[in-house]
Amino acid sequence: MKPFPRAEISRSALQHNMERLREIAPQSHVMAVVKANGYGHGLLNVANCLEMADGFGLARLEEALMLRMGGVKAKLLLLEGVFRLDDLHKLVEHDIETVVHHRSQLDMLEQVSLSAPVTVWMKIDSGMHRLGFCPEEFREMYARLVVCPNVAKPVHLMTHFACADEPNNPMTQAQLEVFTGLTRGLPGHRTLANSAGTLYWKDTQADWVRAGIALYGISPVMGDLGSDHGLQPAMDLVSRLISVREHKAGEPVGYGSYWQARQDTRLGIVAIGYGDGYPRNAPEGTPVWINGRLVPIVGRVSMDMLSVDLGWNARDQVGDDAVLWGRDLPVEVVAEHIGTIAYELVTKLTPRVAVCLD
Ligand SMILES: *Cc1c(COP(=O)(O)O)cnc(C)c1O
Repeated sequence: MKPFPRAEISRSALQHNMERLREIAPQSHVMAVVKANGYGHGLLNVANCLEMADGFGLARLEEALMLRMGGVKAKLLLLEGVFRLDDLHKLVEHDIETVVHHRSQLDMLEQVSLSAPVTVWMKIDSGMHRLGFCPEEFREMYARLVVCPNVAKPVHLMTHFACADEPNNPMTQAQLEVFTGLTRGLPGHRTLANSAGTLYWKDTQADWVRAGIALYGISPVMGDLGSDHGLQPAMDLVSRLISVREHKAGEPVGYGSYWQARQDTRLGIVAIGYGDGYPRNAPEGTPVWINGRLVPIVGRVSMDMLSVDLGWNARDQVGDDAVLWGRDLPVEVVAEHIGTIAYELVTKLTPRVAVCLD
């Protein structure tokens, strides 16, 4: 018997999405962003399926070390850089590249004594105002990096977009202009685009695109789907019915008893809940795919289970599969019902969900 709940990860979908991104950004290298456990799809699974990626992007050193321990030889980049001086030695030891976005990281590079220089991507704050050197300090900080013996030459250049997921927002063009103006004539590679930049703002693709969510077959843009861009969902989140019961009009279900059936029906109890990472705030009507159709969640999601209204003439049986999202029910649609984004749903799955590669 297959474990449940489980996240079934499709190798062929991941590989298809990688090929699709190469078609969309034909002049660029593709960095596959696999932070946060490969957006919940399993860090090593994803890296092993995507051997054709030109490199992998991570948020934390621990994630990069897990890839190296797992035998991954590809280029690795820490998108937030290092937070402790000692970590710089680990970068050299394990051949990991780093972003430098703050003076404190530059100070560490100047203080440490390394056995070999590290490859650095200097991050510019072109308008998002989260991480990166602001335009006024860019020249001075760039000059310090260039003369630092612990920094490999050339220094590469990056920025990140605040609003690339809004195809009509002028912010992205403005950020592109700030970045282009500051970096004109400098050597090194450039990277600006996340998935939304890659899909919607061709001018931002540059030497490297950094694609996360699109790799997993999910659209970064509210109101459209991965399939609108020729992408395939890489995760099916599957559990099963552990009870099917007759339910009378007027009877409530679940904690708080706040939902009551308007007519006689059958309820299905699905073995998944907030203890698995399925959000407790999923409202009544959030869809679940069971036996070829969508049925609505009713009552409150509890820790280990949730209830669905199967309908009075339902033929579903205990043991039948219930799909919370995936090929037949895009996670973008579920996210919209819940009032969040698909990124959060896939990354929040807990270790109780078995991650299975097909
Ligand atoms: C997470 C991240 C990405 C990937 O973003 P998506 O929207 O998932 O494509 C790209 N760049 C940086 C710096 C990131 O932190």
